[in-house]
Amino acid sequence: MSVWDEVVGQEQVVATLRAAVVASRAGAGGAPAGDAGRAMTHAWLITGPPGSGRSVAARAFAAALQCTDPDEPGCGRCQACTTTLAGTHADVALIGTEKVVFSIDEIRPLVSQAQRSPSQGRWRVMLMEDADRMVERTSNVLLKAIEEPPPRTVWLLCAPSQEDVLTTIRSRCRAVHLRVPDPRAVADLLVRRDGLDPQVALTAARAAQSHVGLARRLARDPQARERRRRLLGVPTAIRGVGDAVLAAAQLIDISAADAKAATEERDAEEKTALLRTLGADAGTRLPPALRGQVRQLEEDQKRRATRAQRDVLDRAMVDLLALYRDVLVVQLGADVELVNADAADEVHRLAAGSTPEQTVRRMDAVGVARERLAGNVAPLLAVEAMMVALRPQAG
Ligand SMILES: [Zn+2]
Repeated sequence: MSVWDEVVGQEQVVATLRAAVVASRAGAGGAPAGDAGRAMTHAWLITGPPGSGRSVAARAFAAALQCTDPDEPGCGRCQACTTTLAGTHADVALIGTEKVVFSIDEIRPLVSQAQRSPSQGRWRVMLMEDADRMVERTSNVLLKAIEEPPPRTVWLLCAPSQEDVLTTIRSRCRAVHLRVPDPRAVADLLVRRDGLDPQVALTAARAAQSHVGLARRLARDPQARERRRRLLGVPTAIRGVGDAVLAAAQLIDISAADAKAATEERDAEEKTALLRTLGADAGTRLPPALRGQVRQLEEDQKRRATRAQRDVLDRAMVDLLALYRDVLVVQLGADVELVNADAADEVHRLAAGSTPEQTVRRMDAVGVARERLAGNVAPLLAVEAMMVALRPQAG
């Protein structure tokens, strides 16, 4: 067992990160002091498409850096490894945001935290997911911290692609890029780690386009499979503009429900925990001074729900793109495996009822909708325009 076990299908990146861990120890014979820090790159940019495991890789790297095993850095057994993976290591800050962008107030305290020496571990690791969610002003605050890092601080920034991060930040980082793992590697992990049936795991891994978390949910949750089946049935169900508008409203509803299912449980837990720290039980009347804290939490949760819905919608777009990619594969008679082997009927029906040119135009329409959603256009408007473009048209 090792911390790298869950970094699937990324042999090259894992080799690079492991080598960096070994090099970081070389100078000081494994002791957590001295000049070893100089051999280390202090800022890393880990990029890769959604689901490729950016944060999993970053966490494994952080664990290997902190690992206390002298022979096998990243042993996965020592306390440094297990607490880092669990997110409770005192010297590993896990930084994420539920907002659309990081606020400058979220970043400032991190910058001063990064100045401090590690309290017990070898390194102070600042692991930032979604480093692409920073506007320029915020990036500049972070930039100062990255430019002159203390000897035992390492920043690990994660983003979908290098282009998503400002050049000034990017140029000071060492970049590693994750690829989309082979679905078979993802299926292997699901079988090995979650004990899933190999065939179910492989179908799910293909359908999820190698997104590990989604593949796992698809393989285990019948409701997730049902939502996917309904989504993939949408394009064949649209006959005209009226259907398209209805389908858009439906997709928005499905995504809201999906996002709610994903966030509801966590929201309730957080609220109970907050009330407990405030010394109150659910149902008791809070003094006005404490009510503000609860309101703040509720606002954060609302923002998170909005972001979750956008993420779910974007995922639906990615699924539709994959569906049309399969349609194109059939229309062109290419000898490539279908992503949506479980929706082969829909794929063939759509392929028979349209031309390759139309399929390409539909893929463009889905792409435009994704861009609009990312640009904060009202979701219903963006999805409606897309659905109208997906309806059957002559020639
Ligand atoms: Zn270890």
